[in-house]
Amino acid sequence: MESEPSTNVNTREAFSLLGHDIRLDILLALLEDWVAVYTEPKSYSELMAAVEMEDSGKFNYHLNELRGVYIRKVEDGYVPTASATALYRTVLAHRPTEAFEFEPRSLEAACPDCGSPLVLRYDRGFVSIDCDACEEWIGFTYSFPQNGFASHGSDAVLDAIDNQVRCDIEVAGRGQCPDCVGSMTVDLRIDAIERGDHRVELACNTCSFIVGTDLLSAMVGDDRVASALRSVGINPEQRLWNSLWARRGSSRKTRRCSPSISRPTREPHSSWLTRR
Ligand SMILES: [Zn+2]
Ligand SMILES: [Zn+2]
Repeated sequence: MESEPSTNVNTREAFSLLGHDIRLDILLALLEDWVAVYTEPKSYSELMAAVEMEDSGKFNYHLNELRGVYIRKVEDGYVPTASATALYRTVLAHRPTEAFEFEPRSLEAACPDCGSPLVLRYDRGFVSIDCDACEEWIGFTYSFPQNGFASHGSDAVLDAIDNQVRCDIEVAGRGQCPDCVGSMTVDLRIDAIERGDHRVELACNTCSFIVGTDLLSAMVGDDRVASALRSVGINPEQRLWNSLWARRGSSRKTRRCSPSISRPTREPHSSWLTRR
């Protein structure tokens, strides 16, 4: 097998490699049929035919530009790299070229503090669930791909949000980043209880994944915690923003400008924060 060109590129270089129609055609031709490592590689001539090119010099030049970062040469042809497939999946998940306006929607769920209907919003890739009637409940903010709204009905999307958060914090709580599989730092933030902030912060040591939450939400994925909750009559599977433990108590919330996220319209004030 030929040696691969250097993969020692920075982010700017990696993105700039995609700035050409022929390279995009080559990459998309590879990605469209790609499933996993057992997918048949595409041969040089198949790829060249797929992008409808006759000038082999030009084709070769662009193919080589992609090699190492987005394309890999294997024995029987060419395959996309893990970076290429991850980028492809990210675009499919977040749909950056599709305009999407989400009208704020009242939920059937009530604010744990004042009983008013909670309001769901979606802005810049983050879902938020807040009480507009009081400032007692800390609220909920979480990164969520736009495709979630396209793929699920208006009620099912609530389950999708809850599932996503539960899966992420369960994995993060075990010390593994849900995004990049790096190790996590768990900060119990005992001092935050007095201030009314989130009490556990799970931060990836490699990428920008970070989530802050209350202690019980961070532990509810553990069978022992779930069965202890059941034994006192609390359903551990209720949506996290409906959970009794999401109630903040009677103290007025102290808002905090978290370094982990900046919100465009409001100060960050949630029990759940991610930064991606
Ligand atoms: Zn309220
Ligand atoms: Zn990470």
